[in-house]
Amino acid sequence: MDGNGRANADVRSDWTLDEVRALHALPFADLMHRAQSTHRRHFDPNQVQVSTLLSIKTGACPEDCAYCPQSIRYDTGLEREALMEPAAVIARARAAREAGATRFCMGAAWRSPKDRDLDKVVEMVEGVAALGLETCATLGMLTPAQAGRLKVAGLDYYNHNLDTSEAFYGEVITTRTYQDRLETLAAVRDAGIHVCCGGILGLGETAGDRVAFLHTLATLDPHPESVPINNLVQVEGTPLAGTPAVDPIDFVRIIAIARILMPRSHVRLSAGRAAMSDEMQALCFLAGANSIFYGEKLLTTGNPDTESDHALFSRLGIRPEPAAAGN
Ligand code: SF4
Repeated sequence: MDGNGRANADVRSDWTLDEVRALHALPFADLMHRAQSTHRRHFDPNQVQVSTLLSIKTGACPEDCAYCPQSIRYDTGLEREALMEPAAVIARARAAREAGATRFCMGAAWRSPKDRDLDKVVEMVEGVAALGLETCATLGMLTPAQAGRLKVAGLDYYNHNLDTSEAFYGEVITTRTYQDRLETLAAVRDAGIHVCCGGILGLGETAGDRVAFLHTLATLDPHPESVPINNLVQVEGTPLAGTPAVDPIDFVRIIAIARILMPRSHVRLSAGRAAMSDEMQALCFLAGANSIFYGEKLLTTGNPDTESDHALFSRLGIRPEPAAAGN
């Protein structure tokens, strides 16, 4: 739809905070109508992009993200696993491709990768790309040189989330700053790698924090190509266990606003999908979510299994998006 002037006019990075607040204040039906209309100008509304996520190095992370069972600071009973061998990762990617995934994401619980670790990740990226899958990695903070190496290896996407608003961020993470995150995002963008950046709802943030978080994402220029919106999966032993759950309608509202603000981005339903009813997922798709993670594990917490995803897609008449059209 690139030749369509109206669709192109939708894509802006100059949103004001007041505009985002006004979207958040819309009656639900008006917001959904606007989100669905925007969605249809840019995407096939019956296609959803499917990614698979593999934890290639699990646990023992030195960071203190208060939601995360992989932090070494919290006793969550999670079993640590050293960095996987490239051949094993490539075999898992092949299985994911056979299950219908078009993008394979590799996640490592690091503050930032060491160069010797990056050698192995480079081998993984090369191997997964050779299978014809889109490649994505999430490895913590990156220097511009590291981002450049990953680009040369064939990395298509790098995930690095802002998590929440800048104002609330310090309540959740103290070991790296919001600015650190923005710098990694800039290094990834400058290297020519697509950006996957979103956050988590249910950290104890206010509606105002959610608005500010979306505003920050929507004023990145260009917008992140993928915007994962997670619903906190509370893990016993992490500081955020016991935080009030997000109202499902509020969650759908955030998906709809993300769709309107970033019309060309793939908005991804990520962690927390296992706890969502089929009806809530259907509402999220209607609000403009058009990407999910497939498979039995989403890093270290449960994810609906592939079969129930197939069944839901079939009930809703949704088709997986082909790889070449993925963003
Ligand atoms: S979210 Fe990432 S950086 Fe934070 S503790 Fe977990 S693995 Fe480490």
